[in-house]
Amino acid sequence: MSKARWLPLGTVGRNRPAAGQLLAHKHTVWRVIRVEDIELTDKDRDTWINFGAPDLTTWGGRPYRITVHWAGGVKPDWAEREDGDFTSLREGHLDVPAGSYKMWNVYPGGRWPQCSCCSEPMPCRAELEDREVTRSLDRVAELEAIPPGACWACQEPITTRQKTVTYPGENLDLPGGQQPHFHARKECAHSARDYEERWLAVDPRRERILTWPQCGGTLIVHADGSSECVVGRDVLGQQHEPQPDCRGHLTHDHGHQRSCGGCDRGCVGGHGIRLSPRPDRRQPSSERLFQ
Ligand SMILES: [Zn+2]
Ligand SMILES: [Zn+2]
Ligand SMILES: [Zn+2]
Ligand SMILES: [Zn+2]
Repeated sequence: MSKARWLPLGTVGRNRPAAGQLLAHKHTVWRVIRVEDIELTDKDRDTWINFGAPDLTTWGGRPYRITVHWAGGVKPDWAEREDGDFTSLREGHLDVPAGSYKMWNVYPGGRWPQCSCCSEPMPCRAELEDREVTRSLDRVAELEAIPPGACWACQEPITTRQKTVTYPGENLDLPGGQQPHFHARKECAHSARDYEERWLAVDPRRERILTWPQCGGTLIVHADGSSECVVGRDVLGQQHEPQPDCRGHLTHDHGHQRSCGGCDRGCVGGHGIRLSPRPDRRQPSSERLFQ
């Protein structure tokens, strides 16, 4: 089943619907019976104060109750739970809390497109599932079409002079497929790093090839290209300790970095951030390492 949000065909977004309107919600069509203001709960009151305590009679974020009547599509859970006659269970209500500005999918013309196969509002769940299957089949076909030895990211052939990275073991994108090779160049390295994270997760004995572990410390970069890691402090004043084995950019990636303000490595403050090259790592040579 698709995890994407359902976008019901023919609807428009409305903040607070009106009685008589039809709306789509979780593959069900509802007719709005009543929309009424409700008293503020303690939580609503806090929210209202946070919004600057606007005039309640005109405030768009005021909490309300929406009472609806089932008009078609998927039957609601509560109806599924009851053994009784569904006709008596067609009505339900929902309280919308203060400040949520919930958007409803409303059918502006009062008509809704219904699927002929299952009577659900369109697109129905079966159609979404079909689309999902088609998408994944397209993806498989695309991966199967990559020529042997070509780059798994850009799908272009790899010449002997180009730097590459190879991930031995089972192909994680295409079970039974070829061993994936990537160009080490910038355009393809992003996909390679993404693959590498998944590849590392499969077997703890695997070592990083293109990626670096993260360190929470702050990287101080000197004018000569060397670096060191110090305890970082974020905007909330929280401390972030360096990883115990961190030796600056030579061993870890850092989310925070700044240039050194002055020291005997030639820093006089205000120099740009230019790091020395990182060490090359060994490409795992064969698959047997991982068996
Ligand atoms: Zn259908
Ligand atoms: Zn490539
Ligand atoms: Zn560090
Ligand atoms: Zn320095």
